[in-house]
Amino acid sequence: MKLIYCRDCGDVVRLQRFVRMCLCGKTAGRYLEDGIHAVISEDAVPIGIDNNSLRMAVQARIAMLMVGKPIVHEAIKNNLNLTAFVCQFASPHIKTFKMAELQVEDISDVETSPSS
Ligand SMILES: [Zn+2]
Repeated sequence: MKLIYCRDCGDVVRLQRFVRMCLCGKTAGRYLEDGIHAVISEDAVPIGIDNNSLRMAVQARIAMLMVGKPIVHEAIKNNLNLTAFVCQFASPHIKTFKMAELQVEDISDVETSPSS
């Protein structure tokens, strides 16, 4: 799973197949149709979350909720950890664009992340 981080407003936005923008509007990005490659604005910091580690962490949390108390088994507790990373500058899966180059047809699909 790819996300973008905005160094100006601190927002983190999950990429979708339509353009999503951070709260301040200085960064944006989207997945291409293949769902693997992405385009992001040049100021966005791309973040990856290992999908398998996320799936295992969610399952561990569900197991904890079913038991009704914190997990004490170390192996299951370790599954609560996520593997996340900042993508390399020259990632073959990510291309960058200048925000000024965002096309009108792209902007019609823009979704700003909801405030929290
Ligand atoms: Zn921002």
